[in-house]
Amino acid sequence: RVSIVGSMNADHVVEVETMPKPGETIIGGPMSIHAGGKSANQAASCARLQLRADLIGAVGSDANADFLLHELNDAGVGTDNIEHVDLPSGSTIIVVDPHGENFIVVSSGANGKVNADFVRRHSDVIERSDILGLCLEAPLQAVVESSRIAHAAHTTVALNISPMPEGLNPALKHCLADVADIAIMNEHETAQWLGLAHEPNLQSDWDALHDQLRATGLDRVVVTLGAAGSVVLDGVQTSHIPAFTVKPVDTTGAGDSFMGAMLASLASGNSLDSACEVASAVSAFSTLGKGAQSSYGNTQQITDFVLN
Ligand code: ADP
Repeated sequence: RVSIVGSMNADHVVEVETMPKPGETIIGGPMSIHAGGKSANQAASCARLQLRADLIGAVGSDANADFLLHELNDAGVGTDNIEHVDLPSGSTIIVVDPHGENFIVVSSGANGKVNADFVRRHSDVIERSDILGLCLEAPLQAVVESSRIAHAAHTTVALNISPMPEGLNPALKHCLADVADIAIMNEHETAQWLGLAHEPNLQSDWDALHDQLRATGLDRVVVTLGAAGSVVLDGVQTSHIPAFTVKPVDTTGAGDSFMGAMLASLASGNSLDSACEVASAVSAFSTLGKGAQSSYGNTQQITDFVLN
């Protein structure tokens, strides 16, 4: 079993010809609403692969709450540990231009209520899990408290170090490294975490990067590299997991689908390398459809994709 603590958002997306300037009103295309939020996406990706995944989080009592819960139930996510709180459900407003450039405003709303007390009310779910998935869209105190509960119960913690917190300092890095048995981040986040001038790519000296990551307290790390796949740094081993070759339609939520599939595979007893191989297929499939959760495949679809 997998448990995930964190965020759920209704993403409101409008396409525009040109970005509005401050004070300007422009006419955009039709608004589409997608179920998002990193934790909800990760739970949906995991549950679509027929692994029991419970999400611990909060929604309001509005239409977005009904929509978010409907999408999660459709994916098979366990929603018994989602509370209704007295704030609007989390939502985002995303404006995209024809070049793919975007403006994003996040209104965390109900997600902000997921604090340490909130997590403690659901500690039994974390304790029963083989693995707990966390990301930094959840309030930091919820992340720290969830990992404390998990570690006391010998539940492995996978932390998606995303979005990278503002004001990252050595004390915060130390705290997050304590949370993470396994850390996962993309190449931009890895550069930010290490304060690198350049983002790592496949040609980077991964042994040196591994040493630098270890010096920050991270021993087991997965770095995702978009179409270049991912690199797994585990103990003394470094492996490259290639991406599948696809013609992507929309890569939104690819990283979350990767994380969810990795959690599912780890909870089934697979090694980190094997889990990332599964995640590579699942996340490549997710780039073939629009949106995040709406583009995630089930076991049958992923099997067909890999065999074809
Ligand atoms: P994020 O969405 O967090 O920025 P990435 O862009 O690194 O994360 O994507 C996560 C994973 O999704 C990659 O490691 C890869 O396996 C898969 N992926 C992303 N983009 C593509 C692509 N264009 N083709 C094939 N696989 C992709």
